[in-house]
Amino acid sequence: MSGPADTEWHGNDAEAEELKRALNRNCQCKYDDFGSVSDMCVVHKALLKDQRFLDGLLFVKRMKRQFTEAERKSGKKWHSI
Ligand SMILES: [Zn+2]
Repeated sequence: MSGPADTEWHGNDAEAEELKRALNRNCQCKYDDFGSVSDMCVVHKALLKDQRFLDGLLFVKRMKRQFTEAERKSGKKWHSI
């Protein structure tokens, strides 16, 4: 991985795409007149600098998918979200 990131993505490509879309919706980075980031948002900071945050994000995502899958198969509601 190149660039200023200290973190590494441990998910697959589909999950990376999903993350990118979520990022685009939540990103609040500020840019200067030259198109460079002048003020990085907290989400980007966490993703680039905090490996545990990144891994945690993936973990929660996979857990949620498993629950949703189980819910669909059983026809029961496991949670109300
Ligand atoms: Zn951002």
